[in-house]
Amino acid sequence: MPQIDDKLAPIYEQVVRRNAGEPEFHQAVREVLESLGRVVAKRPDYLEDALIERLCEPERQIIFRVPWTDDKGQVQINRGFRVQFSSAMGPYKGGLRFHPSVNVGIIKFLGFEQIFKNALTGLPIGGGKGGSDFDPKGRSDGEVMRFCQSFMTELYRHLGEYTDVPAGDIGVGGREIGYMFGQYKRLTNRYEAGVLTGKGLFYGGSLARTEATGYGNTYFTRAMLQTGGEDFDGKTTVVSGSGNVAIYTIEKVQSYGGKVVACSDSSGYIVDENGLDLDLIKEIKEVRRGRIGEYVRLKGQGYFVKSGEGSIWDVPCQVAMPSATQNELTGKDAAKLVKNGVQAVGEGANMPSTPEAIRTFQQAGVKFGPGKAANAGGVATSALEMQQNASRDRWSFEQTEARLATIMRDIHDSCYETAEEFGAPGDYVIGANIAGFIRVAEPMRAFGVI
Ligand code: GLU
Repeated sequence: MPQIDDKLAPIYEQVVRRNAGEPEFHQAVREVLESLGRVVAKRPDYLEDALIERLCEPERQIIFRVPWTDDKGQVQINRGFRVQFSSAMGPYKGGLRFHPSVNVGIIKFLGFEQIFKNALTGLPIGGGKGGSDFDPKGRSDGEVMRFCQSFMTELYRHLGEYTDVPAGDIGVGGREIGYMFGQYKRLTNRYEAGVLTGKGLFYGGSLARTEATGYGNTYFTRAMLQTGGEDFDGKTTVVSGSGNVAIYTIEKVQSYGGKVVACSDSSGYIVDENGLDLDLIKEIKEVRRGRIGEYVRLKGQGYFVKSGEGSIWDVPCQVAMPSATQNELTGKDAAKLVKNGVQAVGEGANMPSTPEAIRTFQQAGVKFGPGKAANAGGVATSALEMQQNASRDRWSFEQTEARLATIMRDIHDSCYETAEEFGAPGDYVIGANIAGFIRVAEPMRAFGVI
C-alpha cells in the first residue's frame, strides 16, 4: 500500500481528527498526500507556512436549511451545502450535486478534488462544490423548481462571477440550472450570466458544455492509449452510468470506432454485444427519464442484470470508463477487469475507483486516468462558458470543442511529463496530483499566510 511521507503524515492525521466520519474526504486527501512526498523531497520549501495544511482546510463551508412545499402541500426540509475550498487560482468553481447520499464529507471530497482538477485545466478557476440531499428522482417539475428556488434564496448571497460559480453534477442538469439562474437574477436584479455555468443555450450557455465531460474523458483516454500505439478502434468498451457523462462518452468512443457494450443506472446494467444503441439510451434517460432495463424490451436484444445480482465490471472489455459515482469500482472489480484483459481505464466520474482498484490496475500495468485529470473537460468548458459570458460573445461548437480537445491533450501531457519528472513514469495519479498541486501552491505562496 502506498505510504504517506513521514513529514506529511501529521497533516493526514489532523485531517482525520478534524473531519471525523467523512471517509470519502479522508480518501481523497490521502491519495494526494501519498503523491506529495515526492514533491517535498525535492522542494522542502513547500512545507513552510503550513501550506499543505491550509490546502486541506476549506476556506469556507456553508450549510443551510432548504424548506420547500411538495405537490401535496406538505412542507419538506432538505440540507444545502457549499464548500468554498480554494480561491488561489480564481473564483471558487465546481458543481452542485442533488442526491440523497450527499453530506458534508461527500461535498468536501468533491471540493478538494476540484482544486487540483481545475488547476490542471490551466484556466483561472479555484475549487468548490455544493449540493443537497434532495432527491430529484420522481419529483415533478414544479417540485424541482420550488426546491431550486428555495436553495438559491439562501445560496445567492455567497455567489458571484468573481466569487463563486456553481454548475451541475449528479442530479443537476439544464432544468435545475435554469431554475436557479432565474431565482438568482430575480433576487439580485442583475443579469450576471457568469454566475452559473451549464446554462441553456438561449441564456448564455456554451455550445459543447453538455458534451464536454464525456468527450473530454474520451480524448484523455485516447491519449493514454496512444502512448502505447493503440486507439479505440475496434476495442470493446464498458461505460458505467447513463447520465450526461456516460452518454457523451459513449457517443465519442463510438465515433472513434470503439464498441461500447454496456452501461448502467442505479437499478442495474445492460449488455448489448452488438454495440449499444445510443439514440435509444438518450430517449430512455433524457426524454422518458426511465430506467435502463427498458432498453432490452424496446430494442429486443441484449440483457439486463439487476443491481446487486452482478457487477457491470464483470463484462469483459479492453477499455473501462467508470462514469457513475464514487467508489463504484472495487478492488475485486479491478481484478476481474485485469483478468479479462483491460488495457486502459479513464474515470468519467469523481473518484469512482477505490484505492485497492487503482493499485490493482497500476500493478498490472493498466493505463489509469484518474478523474481529476480525465474528467476535467466539463469544468474546463465551464471556464470557456465564463469567458464567453465575460466578453458577451458566443463561440461555435467547433471552436469550443477544439479548445476542449487542446486542453485535454495538455492535461494528459502535463500529467505524463510530471510523473516522469518525479520518478513515476506512466503513473497518471502521481502526475495529476503533483502538477495540480504545484499550480495551486505557487499563488498560495505569493499571497502569504491567508
Ligand atoms: N461537476 C463537474 C465536475 O465534477 C463540473 C463542474 C463545473 O463545471 O463547474 O467537475
